[in-house]
Amino acid sequence: MVDRLRGREIDPAALDALRTVPRHEFVPGRDAGAAYADRPLPIGGDQTISAPSVVALMCSLLAVAPGDDVLEIGTGCGYHAAVTAELVAGDRADAGGVYSVEYDPELAAAARDRLSRLGYDAVHVRVGDGHEGWSEHAPYDAAYLTCATPEIPEAVVDQVRAGGRVVAPVGDAVGRFGGQRLVRLTVGEDGIEREDHGGVRFVPMRGGEGD
Ligand code: SAH
Repeated sequence: MVDRLRGREIDPAALDALRTVPRHEFVPGRDAGAAYADRPLPIGGDQTISAPSVVALMCSLLAVAPGDDVLEIGTGCGYHAAVTAELVAGDRADAGGVYSVEYDPELAAAARDRLSRLGYDAVHVRVGDGHEGWSEHAPYDAAYLTCATPEIPEAVVDQVRAGGRVVAPVGDAVGRFGGQRLVRLTVGEDGIEREDHGGVRFVPMRGGEGD
């Protein structure tokens, strides 16, 4: 599977991480046979795990390095978090961590169990609304959302250090799969740079004010 994903925008370290994480451990029994196809799969609670090519692209845009601390919004089954954990781990004593916020308590509990069974101790899962980020472990070197939102939550951007990056699907979260663009923000000392990285499809972000 990984050999088919090579592309200009994909970082070789992200491909290595994809090779290392056992995707079949993250998808429910009847879909495990499709775990190495490059497509999204259902993970319960009406949610989906992203296609591996999308995970690889997001990791590449995030450009994390060993030792980095990363904020994830939308743990889902924990697959993307495990891939990110591979990228921040390295051999160093000060290995980085992945701090992941999940809205659905059942998905969060299942992901926490699965990640600890597979030895991903660097991933920390909290139940909550990602619109607030996870301030206790800020500032982060990078942050990403795995659910689509019309606007990237201010708290998430605020919790990323200067020079850090935020990657998120941005777009219509009203329809189940509205028109969404993958956006990368680079947080500067005096301003935020914004780039568009093409069309994507993610489940809508839940919660937020007035929900
Ligand atoms: N990265 C995941 C895919 C997650 S699908 C994986 O590898 O499996 C999107 C996830 O975002 C779902 O689990 C959904 O419950 C979660 N989500 C939706 N709105 C959220 C919010 N406001 N805060 C945190 N998580 C949210």
